[in-house]
Amino acid sequence: MKLSEVPITVRAMAVVMLIAGCGSDSPTQPAATRPDCANPVFGDPAVSPYCLPFATSALYTVTQSYCSSPPRSHQGRFAYDFDMPMGTEVLAARAGEVVELREHWSDQDTQGGHENVVILRHSDATLSLYIHMRNQGVLVEMGDYVPQGGLLGWSGSSGTFSPHIHFQVCLRGGQCSTGSNEITLPVNFRNAAGPVDSLGGLIDGETYQALPCG
Ligand SMILES: [Zn+2]
Repeated sequence: MKLSEVPITVRAMAVVMLIAGCGSDSPTQPAATRPDCANPVFGDPAVSPYCLPFATSALYTVTQSYCSSPPRSHQGRFAYDFDMPMGTEVLAARAGEVVELREHWSDQDTQGGHENVVILRHSDATLSLYIHMRNQGVLVEMGDYVPQGGLLGWSGSSGTFSPHIHFQVCLRGGQCSTGSNEITLPVNFRNAAGPVDSLGGLIDGETYQALPCG
């Protein structure tokens, strides 16, 4: 939950982009604008490129939704916290390449900045973050290509007080953290059985079940 605390600079990105940047399939870069918490555009969940980051038929509660109010940590930010027990399988919400991972922090370490993390880079150059992974609980390696629904590892409680997974999507090029340069994107999930708000986002306190990610 305390991503504020995670200065995740995605330095590997520069190398990846240099290597991958001149092919005919070069990803298009989204406009580098900061979505407005007051007027986000989530789009129709039915056509979302994302699936929930947990196994089919599992259901978990959103304990913090997007753009939360102070003192909660998602202020000004599109992110979701899914409450889940230690050791829950965490799946790739969308196919991508592993561009950053960290798994050495203890699950008893509640200090901000001490979060284990996996970051995937997608075909449109956006990044998805999976925060509070279990100590030594990341199964993928740097440079791996993970299909949608692929197993990233297990959830934990590194850098937070209660086990959960923090999920968010960022534009490339900036710092994917709560720093001033962070640009997160409003996202929803096409396989989420549960209510969405009038804007299409998941709702604080509601529980969502993962349908098959077709
Ligand atoms: Zn969070």
